[in-house]
Amino acid sequence: MREYMIGDKVVSKTTYHKKRRRAEALGCAIEDVPNMQGRHGNNLRGSANPRWNSGQLVTSHGYVLARVSRQHPHSFGGKGDRAYCYEHIAVMVAHMGRPLSASEVVHHKNQDRTDNRIENLVVMQCGKHVSEHAKARAAVRTRNTDGTFAKLRYRTLPWSMPGDPR
Ligand SMILES: [Zn+2]
Repeated sequence: MREYMIGDKVVSKTTYHKKRRRAEALGCAIEDVPNMQGRHGNNLRGSANPRWNSGQLVTSHGYVLARVSRQHPHSFGGKGDRAYCYEHIAVMVAHMGRPLSASEVVHHKNQDRTDNRIENLVVMQCGKHVSEHAKARAAVRTRNTDGTFAKLRYRTLPWSMPGDPR
């Protein structure tokens, strides 16, 4: 019988294939796939309280949560050693091999918060991040048929500003 290993851990065939698919989707090594297993996080409150969405834990702000060990530098909530981390952060931290500094945020290039493929993620300085989002919210100025400027319209974005989770 074949043994399925992730790192030095023996896992079930189902877990192995689930993780391999997720690794492919995220474009990272199978060892770096954040742990998505676990119960519903009933002990998380407010914006951190996740809901199920196609087998993923998603916060009310639309960010995907990963189950991580309490030892993870960006872990929060959970119980005992089982805690949460935003998946985009877990993916970037695994990729960089170091935690984020206090001034760094992980931004979704295509603005889809559930698209946590490494190529969709970029580390930014806080200030730059805010201005990038502000740019995306910039007023849209159009002209009327007679050439005069139309009333300013603002693009509405699906995220709240500022202070999306790091
Ligand atoms: Zn952003």
